[in-house]
Amino acid sequence: MSHEHLQADCIFCKIIRGEIPSFKITETDKSYAFLDINPLSEGHALIIPKYHAEYFHQVPDDVLADMLPLAKKVALAIGLEGNQYNLLQNNGRMAHQEVFHVHFHIIPKPDTEKGLKIGWPQMKVSKEDLEKTYNRIKID
Ligand code: AMP
Repeated sequence: MSHEHLQADCIFCKIIRGEIPSFKITETDKSYAFLDINPLSEGHALIIPKYHAEYFHQVPDDVLADMLPLAKKVALAIGLEGNQYNLLQNNGRMAHQEVFHVHFHIIPKPDTEKGLKIGWPQMKVSKEDLEKTYNRIKID
């Protein structure tokens, strides 16, 4: 993939172009994997598209289709003991996005203190409300 879809002033586009150093794990024609510079646990890695998009839903399907197999390869290379890890992708400031170039995190969870800490504020909803939501969202 040429660099025509990259942006001049994006930090992750600069990493792809080699203008900023990174601990590259591997890359394909369409995606790039490297170590997170401020890891939540040892091995914390990022998978990014070689296509500048701020949000997940803006990435072309062929690029997305390249990213997940690469994420799987990287997960296996990290050596995720006991299969304890999170695959995370944040969209928007409120959803904890800090770098506005799409990225998947692979975050090992070696113990309760390291890795991702998750709040899981489940709502109580009625069957009617669930049905309303379902009717709004269902595609087929
Ligand atoms: P997010 O909160 O999902 O936007 O995560 C952005 C991630 O990018 C953070 O975990 C940062 O530590 C990481 N990060 C920012 N700059 C760099 C960099 N130059 N090299 C590697 N990781 C970076």
